[in-house]
Amino acid sequence: IAPPFPVALDDRFARELPELALAWQAEPAPDPRLLVLNEHLAAGLGLDPAWLRGPDGVRLLVGNLVPDGATPVAQAYAGHQFGGYSPRLGDGRALLLGELTVDRGVRDLHLKGSGRTPFARGGDGLAAVGPMLREYVISEAMHALGIPTTRALAVVATGRPVRRETVLPGAVLARVASSHLRVGSFQYARATGDVDLLRRLADHAIARHWGGSGDGGAADAEQPYLALFEAVAAAQASLVARWMLVGFVHGVMNTDNMTISGETIDYGPCAFLDAYDADAVYSSIDEGGRYRYRNQPLAAEWNLARFAETLLPLISDDPEQAVARAVESLKTFGPAYDAAWSSGMRAKLGLPEGLDDDVAGPLVDELLAHLQQGHVDHTSFFRALGRAARGDLEPARNLVLDLAAFDGWLDRWRALAPDAGSMDRVNPVYIPRNHLVEESLDAATGGDLDPLGRLLDAVSAPYDERPGLERYAAPAPQDFGVYRTFC
Ligand code: AMP
Ligand code: MG
Ligand code: MG
Repeated sequence: IAPPFPVALDDRFARELPELALAWQAEPAPDPRLLVLNEHLAAGLGLDPAWLRGPDGVRLLVGNLVPDGATPVAQAYAGHQFGGYSPRLGDGRALLLGELTVDRGVRDLHLKGSGRTPFARGGDGLAAVGPMLREYVISEAMHALGIPTTRALAVVATGRPVRRETVLPGAVLARVASSHLRVGSFQYARATGDVDLLRRLADHAIARHWGGSGDGGAADAEQPYLALFEAVAAAQASLVARWMLVGFVHGVMNTDNMTISGETIDYGPCAFLDAYDADAVYSSIDEGGRYRYRNQPLAAEWNLARFAETLLPLISDDPEQAVARAVESLKTFGPAYDAAWSSGMRAKLGLPEGLDDDVAGPLVDELLAHLQQGHVDHTSFFRALGRAARGDLEPARNLVLDLAAFDGWLDRWRALAPDAGSMDRVNPVYIPRNHLVEESLDAATGGDLDPLGRLLDAVSAPYDERPGLERYAAPAPQDFGVYRTFC
């Protein structure tokens, strides 16, 4: 294509880590049609939304037009899936198109559903419209909630049918991330036995995410690779605490789905809690409930232990010393998670940061027991509690089962003078409720994008209650039944 091309894509990952990058092309899409474009995100990336909507832009978004200088690659990674190790996963149906340079950083532009790659194993390399739109709406909701996440730039229907339980319309998701480095990327590099590759990967991750040389970041630390590990552990502790506080269940926290950046990635069988249940599992493939709601911090810590193992050769030449140091660093995760969760929970309850743990701890534990026992809608309840802080107790009281006990709890909580205004800034009104997501994806698969657009409008300003959007704040109807998600 003739210059000037309006999108400049670097190939730094492919150049610096060729062992992890397999140059590859997207399959041609027979009839590409843009379904949804994130104009605001595009503009923030310096891309022209009008151009992206045009024929060349849409071809770029399905990988069928490659800018000069770009080298699309399938990235290699390994991973523990539900606890079992797979030495070779990689992008089976995805491509890194390249890196975009933004204000003070770099963003990956990545495609999902763009056809088989050499990592596809038995897979068809494709994705259906519904799941790609699910990732679009849920990742945008997460972003609006203030939770670190990959972003969705566009979903383009390919015109190619995809065989699942039924035949479905195919699509490609264009995704933007601060990088696609995963714990599984380090597992792959470590398994090659090439310590130079492992060091280049770690240096690349440090430069990209954790302060390159001279920034006072991990590169300048006495132990840069331990500093890298601790930075990732801290980011994941904060991230998973944020998930827990909004009731997000990722569903497939395999090590290949855990980023080094601390962004949420890979919205497959994920869901938000409706009725509070510490044991909630939505994914049809998570039969043992390994990634149930309450296990998420444990799963993150387990994944971080796998990450730490990959770094051992970089930590010390003395294997025993390397393990001892890694174990010490891994111990930072638990307290960091607990602190992030406790302070987030205090904020949800409108309580002062400095409140004594002996007061806040039992208050929170008791409340969660009420929510569990009464199958209380998680999102509605915390928002209603903001009204209770203003003296309007009925919306919250109407949701619980054991009113006598709950009234005692309310008295103790209100005596602490909770701050209603701050509560409304952390307790969302609108989340992508499971029944609404399903409804909008079904409609979109049938060709009607209006319900998806309305849901996106609601969840894009989650804390801002607006008239006319009542159904986006309401729990699922009784007949919605048990929610199961599929990859
Ligand atoms: P996920 O569970 O979605 O994170 O995917 C795990 C692995 O399976 C990754 O290596 C994916 O690239 C690969 N994969 C998932 N779906 C497909 C598909 N339809 N075709 C090829 N590879 C796939
Ligand atoms: Mg994945
Ligand atoms: Mg996936």
